[in-house]
Amino acid sequence: MGITTIQSEQLFEKAQTLMPGGVNSPVRAFKAVGRNPIFIDHAMGSKIVDVDGNEYIDYVCSWGPGILGHAHPIVIDAVTKACAKGLTFGAPTRRESELAELIMAAVPAIEMVRLVSSGTEAVMSAVRAARGYTGRDLILKFTGCYHGHSDGLLVKSGSGLITNAVPDSAGVPKAYTDCTLVAEYNNEESVRELFGRYGESIAALVVEPVAANMGVVPPEEGFLQFLRDITTKYGTVLIFDEVITGFRLSIGGAAQYYGVKPDLITMGKIIGGGMPLAAYGGRKDIMEVISPLGSVYQAGTLSGNPIATAAGLATLKLLMDDQDIYKRIDDKAAQLEKAYISAGYKTVNRVGSLMSVFFTDRQVSNYNDAATSDTKAYAEYFGHMLDNGINIAPSQFEAMFISDAHTEDDIRKTIDTIRS
Ligand SMILES: *Cc1c(COP(=O)(O)O)cnc(C)c1O
Repeated sequence: MGITTIQSEQLFEKAQTLMPGGVNSPVRAFKAVGRNPIFIDHAMGSKIVDVDGNEYIDYVCSWGPGILGHAHPIVIDAVTKACAKGLTFGAPTRRESELAELIMAAVPAIEMVRLVSSGTEAVMSAVRAARGYTGRDLILKFTGCYHGHSDGLLVKSGSGLITNAVPDSAGVPKAYTDCTLVAEYNNEESVRELFGRYGESIAALVVEPVAANMGVVPPEEGFLQFLRDITTKYGTVLIFDEVITGFRLSIGGAAQYYGVKPDLITMGKIIGGGMPLAAYGGRKDIMEVISPLGSVYQAGTLSGNPIATAAGLATLKLLMDDQDIYKRIDDKAAQLEKAYISAGYKTVNRVGSLMSVFFTDRQVSNYNDAATSDTKAYAEYFGHMLDNGINIAPSQFEAMFISDAHTEDDIRKTIDTIRS
């Protein structure tokens, strides 16, 4: 079966003359799977519909925000009502406090929070807060973990196991990445060595508690607790980047799911309910370094804007009031996982409603393992799914997201396609 994509092709041709690669975020261009992107007209519940009228069961879910599915009527209603009262004021509103209160009720590690507009901004700001708080410059991250595209975090490891990082993008001065150390995910020894050398100078260790930007890679038993212990020992601020896992793995995110309490947490995606909203927060004594209370500057024209807070608040309230949702999305993901395994896919990584199928014989527990995946085989699998009305990430190194809107029928159809 094939799909007709005449309108998408035309729009893409034009878009390429207007925007780099025709898109506003690279993965949307489908380059990794060797196809042209589908342009979306609208989406509802578990389905997304392109401009040619093709309907797909959507497992991208806007890369994570769509935990309730698309266009949830209660969220749309909240946004519509908010719009009628004005789009942005650049002044405080009641809903910002309501959202902050709700986030803090769900996530005990967050004693004070600042709202921003993107995950990139949240992590960048949390790192600055940690530096301001500790008076130290270095940060430590893991290869394959993504924390947005700010300069100091757009790094990869150089050659050799112990090394300072090198830029992972043109345009990033080496001077920035000189302040970033890179360790291997799930490799305690690589972390221990860096702390042994630089521990007293490391302001923050930032980690995705479940890595979900190299495909999904769960933390090994004890790994997060190890990070908690070693950062405590060296007075380093432990930052969990929960931009994906926040309100995804549980109401209290990965911190609750794994029972490990970081010093700062960054969130995004779900907390904006589909609008540009993110946050960073945590220990009060650290958050108090932020301006205007403290000396670490961070600001935003549209931060905590009334439309985004309306969408976020409606979404989080729905999750808070119906926490069985986590069991439901987990069960659906487990059904898909089972289907992949019985269809002969060897390496399936899943944590709750986050999942990845890797085309490698190796168990995938870090970036080097993930990189052994046969991306050509992934591209074929992607094409098979898309041509059969199922939209999955157009890259091996992204997660599959299951939402509360996916129906039994969707799961059955997806399983049939996996098997065919
Ligand atoms: C998506 C993501 C970011 C960046 O968020 P943006 O809103 O795209 O800037 C940061 N960290 C993680 C873990 C993410 O998945």
